[in-house]
Amino acid sequence: MRIHDLVQHQRTFYYTESTKPFSFRREQLNNLRNMIEEHEQSIIEALYKDLHKSEFESYTTEIGFLYSEITSALKNLKEWMKPQKVKTPLTHAGSKSYLYQEPYGVTLIIAPWNYPFQLALAPVIGALAAGNTVVLKPSELTPETSSLLKEMVNKWFDPAVFAVVEGDAEVSQELLEQRFDLIFFTGSVPVGKIVMEKASRHLTPVILELGGKSPTIVDEDANLDLAAKRIAWGKFTNAGQTCIAPDYLYVQRSVKPELLSKLKQAIKDLYGEDPLYNEEYSHIVNRRHFDRLSEYLNDGELIAGGERDEDITAIEPTILDHISWKDAVMQDEIFGPILPVLTFDDLGEVVAEVRDHEKPLALYYFSENEEKQEEILSKLSFGGGCINDTLFHVANPHLPFGGVGQSGVGSYHGKASFDAFTHSKGIVKQTTKFDLSIRYPGRKHGLKLIKKLLK
Ligand code: NAD
Repeated sequence: MRIHDLVQHQRTFYYTESTKPFSFRREQLNNLRNMIEEHEQSIIEALYKDLHKSEFESYTTEIGFLYSEITSALKNLKEWMKPQKVKTPLTHAGSKSYLYQEPYGVTLIIAPWNYPFQLALAPVIGALAAGNTVVLKPSELTPETSSLLKEMVNKWFDPAVFAVVEGDAEVSQELLEQRFDLIFFTGSVPVGKIVMEKASRHLTPVILELGGKSPTIVDEDANLDLAAKRIAWGKFTNAGQTCIAPDYLYVQRSVKPELLSKLKQAIKDLYGEDPLYNEEYSHIVNRRHFDRLSEYLNDGELIAGGERDEDITAIEPTILDHISWKDAVMQDEIFGPILPVLTFDDLGEVVAEVRDHEKPLALYYFSENEEKQEEILSKLSFGGGCINDTLFHVANPHLPFGGVGQSGVGSYHGKASFDAFTHSKGIVKQTTKFDLSIRYPGRKHGLKLIKKLLK
C-alpha cells in the first residue's frame, strides 16, 4: 500500500470508533505481547546480526523491558482511560467538571537503531493503549530487526491499526509529508529539528526523544568502587551506543588516579582481557560510525582500551585522559565506547561548564553528601538521571523518561506513555435545572459578587 493510502486507510478505520473501547485496546496489547513471545528467538538473532548484541543484553534492555511495559499498561489501562472528575469552582455552581482521555488519532513513530527493537515498540505500547492507530518506521541501519518487525507486525496486526513502513531518510521524509495527529520521534538532534519543522506545517504535536552529551560527575566523597563499576556498566553496555550513556566523566582531582584505576579494573571484570572478541560485548553499528569514533582516539592520552577490529566494526572500551572542551571528542555526542575524562577542583566549575552547554538528556552524580546532591539537582537542568548510579532511571516505569531543551520534548514510559498519546479534554457538564444569572451583564449586585468569587 502506498504511504498516503495507508494513512488514509488508518484514518478511515480510526473514525469507525473501533480503537476506543477498552476491550479493543486490551486485545492490541495482548497481541503485542504474544507477537514478541512468539518471535523471541528471532528477535535475539536479529539483534545479534545487527549489533552483535548478546542474549543477556537483548533480553534485559530490549525484550524484557517491553514485557514489563505491556504488563503495566494492561494492569492500569481501565483506570487510565476513565474520565477523571476534577474540582469545580463556586462560579460554576450546579455543574461538574471532567478530564476526558481522548486518543490523538493516526500517529507516526520513527525509531533509531541503537535499541532497534525496544525503541520501536515501547512508544507503540503507549499509542495502542491510548486508542490510536500507528505507522512505525524502524531504522534502516539495523536491517535485520527492521525486516523482522515488519514481518511480525504484518502477521499479528491489521494494517488499519498498526503497520510498519521500512526505509531510510527519504521514506521518513515522505511519511513526514502526511498529515498525522501526533509524531513520536526518537533519534538525533539534527533530525529532531527536521521532524519538528515538518510537523509545524500542520501544527502536529511532537514528542522528541533526542540525545546529547550526558555528564557523569564523580566527587571526592563518592564510593569509588561502586562508581567505577556502575559507570563502566552504563558506558559500555551496547558499546556506548545508548542515548543516556555517560558521555564524559568529570572527576574531582583528588580521587582521579584511584577512580581511573578502578574503572580499568571494572572494564576487565565486565569484558575480560580481550573485550573485542567477547560475546557479551556489542559491535559498532556500521563502518561510518566506526570511522567517526576512530577519529576520537587521537584526542588526549589513551589510558585504557583503544584496540579496534575494522572487519567486525568493534572498538574496545576506551578511556581518554587529559581531555579539554576543545577536543573533537567533546564537540558532539560520542555514542560509542569512548570515555573522555575531565578534571575539576571545585563543583562550581562543573556547574558553570555544564550550564554553558545544551541541556543533557541524562546526568549522573556520584557523592555521599546529600547537600551537594541536592545542589546538583537544583542547579543543573537535564532530562533525568541518577545519584550514585547510571542508566537505572530509564527502567523505572514510575519515572517519565524524556529530555529537556535540546535533549527532547515530552516524555514516556509507564503512565507517561499513555499520557503522551492522549489528549486530555477538559469538559464542563452544566446543569439545566437552574441558571445562575450573575454571569450575564446588567444584573443587580452581579459585578460585586463576581469580584468576590474571582478573588
Ligand atoms: P537519526 O536521527 O539519524 O535517525 C533516527 C530515525 O530518523 C531513523 O529512522 C532514520 O531513518 C530517520 N531519519 C534519518 N535522517 C532523516 C531525515 N533527514 N529526515 C527524516 N528522517 C530521518 O538517529 P540514529 O542515528 O538512528 O540514533 C542515534 C541518535 O538517537 C543519538 O543522538 C541518540 O542519543 C538518540 N537516541 C535518543 C533516545 C532517547 O530515548 N532520547 C534513544 C535512542 C537514541
